[in-house]
Amino acid sequence: MDPGFREILIAILSLSFVVFVALFGHVPALRKTPIGWGHAFIWKTFPGWFTKMDIKLTGGLLVRSVKNLFNYLMYEKHPLIQLFYLAMVTGGLYLFYLGAWPRLWSTFHRIMVPIVCSTPYITLYLASYTDPGYITNENHQRAMKLYPYDWVNFKPGYNCSTCRFEKPARSKHCPICKHCIAKADHHCVWINNCVGHKNIKWFFAFLMSTNIILVYGFYLTFYMIKQIVADTLPKGTTIPDLSWGEYVNEFFLCLVLDVSLGIVCLLCLMTGLMSFGFTGYHFYLLWAGTTTNETFKWTDWKDDISAGEVWMAQDPTRNPFTGRWSSQTPGPLNAFNWPVQSDKIVYRIINPEEMEYLDKQLIWTKVDSMDDLVNVYDIGFKKTLEGVIWPTEF
Ligand SMILES: [Zn+2]
Ligand SMILES: [Zn+2]
Repeated sequence: MDPGFREILIAILSLSFVVFVALFGHVPALRKTPIGWGHAFIWKTFPGWFTKMDIKLTGGLLVRSVKNLFNYLMYEKHPLIQLFYLAMVTGGLYLFYLGAWPRLWSTFHRIMVPIVCSTPYITLYLASYTDPGYITNENHQRAMKLYPYDWVNFKPGYNCSTCRFEKPARSKHCPICKHCIAKADHHCVWINNCVGHKNIKWFFAFLMSTNIILVYGFYLTFYMIKQIVADTLPKGTTIPDLSWGEYVNEFFLCLVLDVSLGIVCLLCLMTGLMSFGFTGYHFYLLWAGTTTNETFKWTDWKDDISAGEVWMAQDPTRNPFTGRWSSQTPGPLNAFNWPVQSDKIVYRIINPEEMEYLDKQLIWTKVDSMDDLVNVYDIGFKKTLEGVIWPTEF
């Protein structure tokens, strides 16, 4: 291997790993692993050291500027990551045009390539500029009827401190969009918008079009490089004659010989793995009938149950939304005809004195397994998908 090449490879891999830890280390499943600790180091421990140094050296000037920039990047709407995505796609397409377009072997691909290449731009636009489900004073009453309260993660009677109205079930206030969002999933920097009740279908379309362009780009460039390998072989030898080692060697040689083809091929492969993983996670959320926002809440319950802090009671009378209007309200899915019902209410009691506040008329039992908690939003993959494609108007 070329000296220097290995160092560059190691540097790229280490940098990718650090970026991965910084961006995804907070995921609940990784919380108590070295990746979670690495995340805490990057975002808590290291900034702490830096602040101490800066106060000594410049009186805190550097930290203030970094903080202002960080606040802008983290808590204001800005198109930086969107532009990064557009630059990656457009740059990739330019390289594809240089290296791969002249080698396209059929009219079919010459027609398909422009179509496939336009979809990330269109779906990015739709995901970015479709209202994710802003809850306003005007539509608040209707937003309250979208989903039933589950009395686990969402209970009635809590107000958004910014919007000053009662929080509808499954909603979350987004400090970046400065609105409460119906069925809030997460604020997505790639689309510079929240993903919620109304635009999650365009978010999925955006993910799928990114996956398709990456798979298609990989397929075409891989096939072309394979052709080049076949052409460079001595007369009488074909690819099946090569050992795996020889083939991989030849392949990498051709990859470097035609740089634009090689970059597109590798870029599609590497970003494709990430994009597919992320899409898979979001399909899993659909299948499980939950949202990114709610998975954080479920993880908290899991921790609190193992700490013995969760209590539950059956209360068919106090639940204002689940059950009572069932089957009498036809039309699109809403809080009044919701198919899954539960009469359990769940509270976390951290100090024993708080037991005083629990309703004395009910029989309270300690929850010792996640199986005791019902996710009423898990209404099956098909119904959830229908709700994504045709969200109930409000
Ligand atoms: Zn709000
Ligand atoms: Zn947002």
